[in-house]
Amino acid sequence: MIATKGLVFDIRHFSVHDGPGIRTAVFLKGCPLRCMWCHNPESQSLLPENMKRSRKVGEKSFDFDEMVGREMTPNEVVAELQKDIPIYDESGGGATFSGGEPMIQFDFLYQVLEECRRMEIKTAIDTCGHAPLEQFRAVEPLTNLFLYDLKLIDSTQHKEFTGVDNSLILQNLEMLLSRKARIHIRIPLIPGITDTDENLLGIKDFLLSHSGAERIDLLPYHDIARSKYVRLGRDNPFKLSGAYDSQKLSRIQDLFINLNIPVTVGG
Ligand code: SF4
Repeated sequence: MIATKGLVFDIRHFSVHDGPGIRTAVFLKGCPLRCMWCHNPESQSLLPENMKRSRKVGEKSFDFDEMVGREMTPNEVVAELQKDIPIYDESGGGATFSGGEPMIQFDFLYQVLEECRRMEIKTAIDTCGHAPLEQFRAVEPLTNLFLYDLKLIDSTQHKEFTGVDNSLILQNLEMLLSRKARIHIRIPLIPGITDTDENLLGIKDFLLSHSGAERIDLLPYHDIARSKYVRLGRDNPFKLSGAYDSQKLSRIQDLFINLNIPVTVGG
């Protein structure tokens, strides 16, 4: 088979927030959503793009353009992963494919997953869930864990804040749960948008009627993307700052208590 090249914008070794153990996170470019609060705006476009950077040398600061996104073959990605195999073995970790939305580069991702399976590297896909059902069916047997975002249970609100409705996302999740795939549900807590009681209780109801998720990760909003928008020369559509309210966070954890699965903060 001819190798499909992928567009990768980062490979982060020794990650502890992208699934179990110590992992290598591979970030693929491109996303079908446009979440207002996106913390990785440099990931959204399927094309390489310039981002301003600044580096201090002594007293002087130098500005330069950095290209975000480089083409890699599946073998090149797997060669990076192979370096960390002893760490995966020791820690119970593996490789996590994130983005952007990794499923948007389906052919490339599939080939990397196949190679990982051959090398006995455990894999996770960090996904917004918006990709064709048959593509999720295809990757499911090659994937050890799905980190699956559930942002807004109301489809109209989902479209308003992310640009797409959630019908495909819920359909794919139902399919994966019915196949007993290993799934961690990830809920980004965006003040006044996703962290309302109405939304969180709606997500809880969905998970009560579609059981099987292994745990819930609550991801409180942070504003680390602010400088990225400036460096990309783009307007930041969501300008909230400050730390997430810790009291509210523990109350939200309690909301999910009778699902009888762990509810953690962070990945
Ligand atoms: S799904 Fe993730 S990467 Fe895509 S726009 Fe939303 S927050 Fe950004």
